[in-house]
Amino acid sequence: MTFHKSSLRLASLYLGIIMFISIFFSLNVYQQAVQELERGIRPDVIFQGQIGTSGPKFQIQPQARQAWRQDASTRLHDAKDNVRNRLIFTNLVILVGAGILSYYLASRTLRPIEEAHEAQSRFTADASHELRTPIAAMQTEIEVALMNPKLTLGQSKKLLQSNLEELAKLTALTTGLLKLAQNEYGSQEMSQVDLKEVIQRAVERVQPAAKVKDVTFVTRITEQIVVQADREGIVDMFVTILDNAIKYGPEKSEVTILAAADRKNAVIQIEDKGIGMKANEAEHIFERFYRADSARSKQQGNGYGIGLSIAKQIVDAHDGTITVQSKSGKGSTFTVTLPLSA
Ligand code: ADP
Repeated sequence: MTFHKSSLRLASLYLGIIMFISIFFSLNVYQQAVQELERGIRPDVIFQGQIGTSGPKFQIQPQARQAWRQDASTRLHDAKDNVRNRLIFTNLVILVGAGILSYYLASRTLRPIEEAHEAQSRFTADASHELRTPIAAMQTEIEVALMNPKLTLGQSKKLLQSNLEELAKLTALTTGLLKLAQNEYGSQEMSQVDLKEVIQRAVERVQPAAKVKDVTFVTRITEQIVVQADREGIVDMFVTILDNAIKYGPEKSEVTILAAADRKNAVIQIEDKGIGMKANEAEHIFERFYRADSARSKQQGNGYGIGLSIAKQIVDAHDGTITVQSKSGKGSTFTVTLPLSA
């Protein structure tokens, strides 16, 4: 509604400017035309001529002169009316045409702002919803505990432990939200980054989670590949993909990491043998707060569906691409391309 009003306001402004210019020119044209007409049809001077410079002067009867004068005056009047009417008609056509065009242009101008605004509102609503869930869980637990007059030390400790878990979720979520909102990957200083080294760092960071599920990594990087990148951002991006491969993969499984370079890009593939996802789910996993088949995903871990949107933000900031190929029940392969360092 606000945007409809803004479109109308902007369209009125455009229309106002167009009509101001059109009316200004029309007045000028009218004035010019009237001057020309008056010069061509001059009732006062029409009979003051003579044939040549030396020829005889006309001698016309006063009645005829009067009639001619009246006729010339009527013709001048009609011609002025004609010009005025045509200009008014032209301005009316411009008013209607420019009105429609202005509204179309105003809507087009405001559409990206409207979309950004809608995305922002959706983001705020989704974020608030995700934040409310752990807060509500903590509140309920604390209220129930406070109503129990015979609360033991053991029960209190259990409550605190559970609260601590919810707080850890909140911390993870707020950290992710902050990263998404700041979106400053790539604006940091870029440096020459050896892919093997950053992948190694990412593997080390997910090692504790991998140990719990007995997941092993097989890395195949045959050549040295160097990209111009924000090192921390790239490590974060690989950590997200590897973390998901562990989270959504079976115990005692292998995750394969392949990296190679074509003429322009480094191509990295990370393949797991996990739960996979359906094609219609895979289309959305890079969107904020999207969790494929949420009930099933939630069983696998306590994600919020923002990890991959941050990963995409990082890849986009490097002019790279990130895609997924997946089969439900079979596993997923994430492919990342990053432009090679020049
Ligand atoms: P989350 O924190 O929920 O894992 P992500 O943004 O990292 O959020 O992932 C979005 C969703 O994509 C996940 O909820 C999950 O359903 C799906 N997903 C991501 N990686 C994998 C994977 N390797 N295998 C299967 N599903 C995956």
